[in-house]
Amino acid sequence: MKALVIIDYVNDFVADGGALTCGQPAQEADDYIAAAAADFSKDGNFVVIASDNHQKNDRRSPEYRLFPAHCIEGTAGSELYGKTREAVRKVPEDLLIRSDKCRYSAFAGTHLDIKLRERGITDLYLTGVCTDICVLHTAVDAYNLGYTLFICEKGVVSFNPEGHRFALSHMKNILGASVI
Ligand code: ZN
Repeated sequence: MKALVIIDYVNDFVADGGALTCGQPAQEADDYIAAAAADFSKDGNFVVIASDNHQKNDRRSPEYRLFPAHCIEGTAGSELYGKTREAVRKVPEDLLIRSDKCRYSAFAGTHLDIKLRERGITDLYLTGVCTDICVLHTAVDAYNLGYTLFICEKGVVSFNPEGHRFALSHMKNILGASVI
C-alpha cells in the first residue's frame, strides 16, 4: 500500500504572513499537493497529514529555542493551507491519517509508524515544506524504518534554494529515494 505524506503544509509555513512562511514558492505547490491528495484517495490509497502542532510557550521542544513561535494548537497558523485544505476535507475518513508532530520528523514522538504498518503501507510519497528540514528529517527516519521513499519534486519546497537542492540529492543518493 502507498500513502501520500503532506508535511507541514500549514498556514504558518505557507501563507503570506505565516510565522515562518516559505511564501510564494510554497504557495505554488498548492495545486500539485491538492491534486495528489485527490488522486491518492480516489485510488483507495492513504493520505497522511503530518503537521507541526505546538503548545503555547512549548519549552520542551528544541525547535522553540531556534525559531519564533509557530503552529500553535488551535490557531489558523496550524491549519492546512489553501486548496490542499479543501482537497483533504474530501478524503474519506478511513483513508486519512492525521499525525501531529512537535519535531522536524513526522516519526519523532508520534504513532505514525504503527499507523502506517497496521494499514500495510510500505511506500511513502513525500510532499510539503521545507525540503531540507521537516521533509528531509522525515525521510531519514522513514529510511531507517524500512519504507520505500518517493519524493514528489513539484510538491516539496524550501525558502532556501541551496538547501532544497542538497536535500533532494541527499534523499536520492543516500536514502535511495526516487525523486519523481
Ligand atoms: Zn515546529
